[in-house]
Amino acid sequence: MSALRRPLKSLGQNFLVDGNIIDRIIDAADIHPAQPVLEIGPGRGALTSHLAERAGRLMLIEFDHALAAWHRQQFATTPTVSVVDGDVLKVDLAVLLAESPERWNVVANLPYNISTEVLFRLYNVHSRLERMTLMLQKEVGDRLVAPPDCSAYGVTTVLLGLWFDISRVIVVRPGSFHPSPKVDSVVLSFVPLSEPRAEVGDEDLFRAVVKSAFSMRRKTLSNCLKSAEFSSIISSGELLELCGIDGRRRGETLSLEEFALLSRTLSEMLGAAALGGGHDSGN
Ligand code: SAM
Repeated sequence: MSALRRPLKSLGQNFLVDGNIIDRIIDAADIHPAQPVLEIGPGRGALTSHLAERAGRLMLIEFDHALAAWHRQQFATTPTVSVVDGDVLKVDLAVLLAESPERWNVVANLPYNISTEVLFRLYNVHSRLERMTLMLQKEVGDRLVAPPDCSAYGVTTVLLGLWFDISRVIVVRPGSFHPSPKVDSVVLSFVPLSEPRAEVGDEDLFRAVVKSAFSMRRKTLSNCLKSAEFSSIISSGELLELCGIDGRRRGETLSLEEFALLSRTLSEMLGAAALGGGHDSGN
């Protein structure tokens, strides 16, 4: 593009300039002509023209107004490409994705400062997705593929792991971008599951349990759950006992199945408490 403005650090503008990496991402995205594709943060279009060539329909969401206007101009005569000039954290993704009955293929080299928030938003629309190929800061990506009982294992590992098969495509070094970031990046492939990996019951409760278990990483599970909102209604000690989970363990040692068991049991206990109006504050 002409009249290039300096990349904006505030918008995480590290543009891909490495043809090999671009090819690897496009290959991994496995785009079929019938599939609609969403690119978040197309930037200067390193991936965009490849996506436009392959996709039956391409939607771009770009927060940088100048870049969004540039893409609009580029694709003015291409009716299959639409541009949303906006913040991916503010738009209603469910509404945008409802524009096509087909499930979407999401491709993005995400701005690092908002990547975890974007992941949660995409998690919320998992049933509308066919696949995601996302570039993330390596540290964030490592968390998503971490096994239990290691420091990288956390809220995003458990929540995203419930609904996606996640695999590593390639590690990307700083020299593949302009300007170069200070850290390595990784491209991950996310394939949504048709059923959740574990039966969690109420997903809001599951999220609440997982978030509270990791809320104080140095504290025991028992202490973490005591400060969760639901512990004013039910005893977290009883919850752990019913699940046969030792409260002295730390949240990061629990498997997805154990979190699912906690969530289902919590749901039953809350149901019983609502019926009986009873409340054991013994924690
Ligand atoms: N896809 C391009 C590439 O690979 O070269 C650009 C990637 S750059 C890391 C991130 C892009 O996301 C930038 O174009 C930036 O303007 C855009 N962006 C930043 N914050 C955004 C937000 N909240 N919503 C939508 N786009 C955003």
